[in-house]
Amino acid sequence: MQSGSHNAFETAQKQFDNAAGILGLDQATRDLLRTPMREYHFSIPVRMDDGSVQIFKGFRVQHNDSRGPGKGGIRFHPLETVDTVRALAMWMTWKCAVVDIPLGGAKGGVICDPHNLTPRETEQVCRGWVRQIARNVGPLLDVPAPDVMTNPQNMLWMLDEFEAIHGGKYPGFITGKPLGIGGSQGRTEATGYGVIYTLREALKEMKIDIATTVASVQGFGNVSQYAVDLYTKLGGKILSVSSWDNTEKKSFTFRKASGVKFDELKGITDPFGGISRAKAQEIGYEVLPGDAWIEQDVDILIPAAMEHQITKDNVPKISKRVKIIVEGANGPTTTEADELIKARGIFLIPDFLANAGGVTCSYFEQVQCNMNYFWEKEEVLSKLDTKMTAAFHAVHEMSKKRNVYMRDAAYLIAVSRVAQACRDRGWV
Ligand code: NAD
Repeated sequence: MQSGSHNAFETAQKQFDNAAGILGLDQATRDLLRTPMREYHFSIPVRMDDGSVQIFKGFRVQHNDSRGPGKGGIRFHPLETVDTVRALAMWMTWKCAVVDIPLGGAKGGVICDPHNLTPRETEQVCRGWVRQIARNVGPLLDVPAPDVMTNPQNMLWMLDEFEAIHGGKYPGFITGKPLGIGGSQGRTEATGYGVIYTLREALKEMKIDIATTVASVQGFGNVSQYAVDLYTKLGGKILSVSSWDNTEKKSFTFRKASGVKFDELKGITDPFGGISRAKAQEIGYEVLPGDAWIEQDVDILIPAAMEHQITKDNVPKISKRVKIIVEGANGPTTTEADELIKARGIFLIPDFLANAGGVTCSYFEQVQCNMNYFWEKEEVLSKLDTKMTAAFHAVHEMSKKRNVYMRDAAYLIAVSRVAQACRDRGWV
């Protein structure tokens, strides 16, 4: 999704170039890592319920698989672009490397709006996407997962189509599957919980008691909901969340001075993370403009919606009280905004570290599918916590040791690991 004049792939490349410069990477490694190794663009014909045929545009981008099979979600969005998918694939490579799981980076997408599709049409988009790419993805090649506006049911239709094409059972083809059909306990919560595990560790380092903190969140989808859930369980107060209103085609912020309650808000939210304005007002939420989430008097900001939401224009609106920004979304901060945040000394937990809980749990899902033995939820979440906590501290140590911004520290670790794998394989 291209937002305003910002191009996510350019953002990702600028971030990489900066890290490559600090690391002094040789030219061949830079050339290899600043673009995807492979990408597929295809058309997905779908017979709609009214009998007409609509052609949807689909993508799969495989950025780098030197550390293992590609891994990354599939996004359904009307404003999806191949450059966004390229950026997301590249960020997946760094994400898997920073949490040190043996996977590479990939991402997929379809330009479509699931709000306007019936369940049968959505199923046909899912199956059609797999029919076009079935020979270039798979448990040993590239493993998809859910992302924006895709869900476990979509993953199951995709798995079913893949298995029909290849004639066998391949639960390791895709992650984020429903429980009981190859899914892992904790996968739904994993990304949001992972965001809060890293935040909890940052607060400990800053000697701040989480129960004294207040946060504002952008988005109320899969990532945001479970971030809100765990943060409030740990005693923090959420002052506001925002979400996209698909009827008005704009976003709104929902604020409650006494604190947002997960169950209360979830009960009035549609399957795509859209909060009902009328119902929110009925139960005492103030409804404010979409960008109000960033201007709140809070300690913590959690962007967990889309890319390029924090810009040079709205950074000046961030309250002086804000001490930490935790990037739940991929690429929520533009390059210019990043400089301003760094200059203000706000502690940033960068996207591919903060939201790595999803892919880490997806990796656990693959491991469980390979064993055909599934762990209890507590075991999954405890393993997830261990991985996220270790990754946070490794990045934080690097940031202190090299005296660099947390985003740069995360890049230094991730890019070094991937570059090393490319060298070890003799690619560069
Ligand atoms: P989702 O589709 O479940 O939810 C997206 C949320 O953002 C919804 O509440 C929607 O209303 C809101 N939104 C969309 N546009 C908005 C706008 N302009 N202003 C305010 N709110 C807006 O998606 P998700 O899975 O929660 O993903 C959110 C972000 O996290 C994306 O950047 C995604 O790539 C990233 N991410 C997701 C996962 C995962 O496991 N789902 C993992 C890692 C990263």
